[in-house]
Amino acid sequence: MYRTHTCGALSIQDTGKTVTLAGWVQTIRKFGAITFIDLRDRYGITQLLFGEELNRQLEEHPLGREFVLQAKGVVVERSNKNPNLSTGEIEINILSFTVLNQSATPPFTIQDDTDGGDDLRMRYRYLDLRRNAVKRNLELRYAVSRSARNYLHENSFMDIETPFLIKSTPEGARDFVVPSRMNTGQFYALPQSPQTFKQLLMVSGYDRYYQVVKCFRDEDLRADRQPEFTQIDCEMSFVDQEDILNMFEGLIKRIFKDIKGIDYTEPVERMTWEDAMWDYGNDKPDIRFGMQVANLKVPPHVYLSRQQTIPKTPVGEGGFKVFDEAETLVAISVPGCSEYSRKQTDELTEWVKRPQIGMKGLAFIKCNADGSFKSSIDKFYTGEQLKLIATAVKANAGDLVLILAGPEERTRKAISELRLEMGKRLGFRKDNEFKLLWVLDFPLFEYAADDNRWVARHHPFTSPRPSDIDTMIAHSPAIEDAAKYLEHPYANIKANAYDMVLNGNEIGGGSIRIFQRGLQEKMFAALGMSREESLHKFGFLLGAFEYGAPPHGGIAFGFDRLCAILGGSESIRDFIAFPKNNSGRDMMLDAPSTIDEKQLEELAIQLKTIDQTSL
Ligand code: ASP
Repeated sequence: MYRTHTCGALSIQDTGKTVTLAGWVQTIRKFGAITFIDLRDRYGITQLLFGEELNRQLEEHPLGREFVLQAKGVVVERSNKNPNLSTGEIEINILSFTVLNQSATPPFTIQDDTDGGDDLRMRYRYLDLRRNAVKRNLELRYAVSRSARNYLHENSFMDIETPFLIKSTPEGARDFVVPSRMNTGQFYALPQSPQTFKQLLMVSGYDRYYQVVKCFRDEDLRADRQPEFTQIDCEMSFVDQEDILNMFEGLIKRIFKDIKGIDYTEPVERMTWEDAMWDYGNDKPDIRFGMQVANLKVPPHVYLSRQQTIPKTPVGEGGFKVFDEAETLVAISVPGCSEYSRKQTDELTEWVKRPQIGMKGLAFIKCNADGSFKSSIDKFYTGEQLKLIATAVKANAGDLVLILAGPEERTRKAISELRLEMGKRLGFRKDNEFKLLWVLDFPLFEYAADDNRWVARHHPFTSPRPSDIDTMIAHSPAIEDAAKYLEHPYANIKANAYDMVLNGNEIGGGSIRIFQRGLQEKMFAALGMSREESLHKFGFLLGAFEYGAPPHGGIAFGFDRLCAILGGSESIRDFIAFPKNNSGRDMMLDAPSTIDEKQLEELAIQLKTIDQTSL
């Protein structure tokens, strides 16, 4: 037996016991003739005391950091207690020890605050994983998965595995492909998600399915994305949207309870996609704070349900050319910031001009406490007009109104970013506050300007909102005039789709599915797929729909992201045991890598050199 206890197990109650521990040398401290060693394992740290005699042995065979040590000794009370350690009241008076293995000096310190940079830590991830901070994240991840599994099990969901070597079925991203040796010239694809399989399982009668499952997407990696990531993937039969929202609200609330001890008793707020875009400029709004967007000028044909609510103001109606010519004018009112200095407003202007935000400038109105207004657009508007604008933005005395002008999409995104930034600066986005939100009624289609056609916003299996099915069936997807695509009836068709948002992050999304062959065929056609192409790609699903497919719907949660948020971190990498870096590279394995000539031959693959710059 290598050990009687772990390094986190012993306390004052164990004094007098003879124990054997095994673990890694964290620190070595010499005090004259005695030596203290902190021994670490997954469970904690225990202080070992090496007396004079053993010290001589240590001198002959010096230990180093991260050596693997087995030590036997007696638990004694410590004179110098450490309240920060669970074992801090005791130490082990060592009788004998064995070095089980040596260690090279680690390239960075195995401590909470390590001196290792990101790349180094990724290269030696097996050492990084020894650090408490990373270990705690993996423990949290396991706890979240256990909590989810328990809830789903209690609700009759069945965990069913689905294959990884499948057929390329586009879901919005690019597929990773795997060449087949036995079928030369043919390829498998790795699933972007088990979407079609879970739907087939519904056809098979497994009415409640789940899987904590890897998904693979060959995307350009924006910050904090991973080419392989994990979803809690779920599907249910004989349900409508309301059933799904209730079931999965329950799942997240259970996770909150189990992981954070939070009783999230209030119902999760709901908001339509149009309202989210209109009031927050964003389809995943952080509703921990208000500071809603005021829409002062918006092009026709978008957000039809809110067009009527645009307040009448002097902006855009002569006076200031930039405002008059802008497609969209949006504003927020930042509470208590009317006394911002010139330097501060200049800094904010620079902030919105950064390439990531892409605005040409920022206009502001300071709503002074005495009821007067001071503005960067004083020249163009009278005090009375500024007051009208400030009222439309629902500004109070003491607020700073920030106005952005520009093209619709970019400006809306920018006001959302500005709102989040101001929310952060003013301390409105608190780490320990959690606000869930359902965003509903997403558009079914998105316009792809490059090909002048419609693409599925969620995926091609999402059903239109029942009230929009007729519109979809009645109209051809063809867009005659690209400039007027917004006037095409498809632009306003909404999907029976929903996202769950937590503190401004999309943590899950799903939809009620199409389950009739006819409508599914119509959908493929709407996406510009020929009959042959849809049969080639999805013949199996269309075929299955002919054999009694039940109505069904589902959702998938981004498991890595959920863990990161619950762990109070911005980075999903910290919650994945062996993550890839921002270029999709595994720094430890040095993958991807070339393969042998022989392997290529077996696969009948010949490599071609191409000019990377032309890609
Ligand atoms: N398969 C979808 C996704 O990965 C989720 C769903 O619709 O259930 O986004």
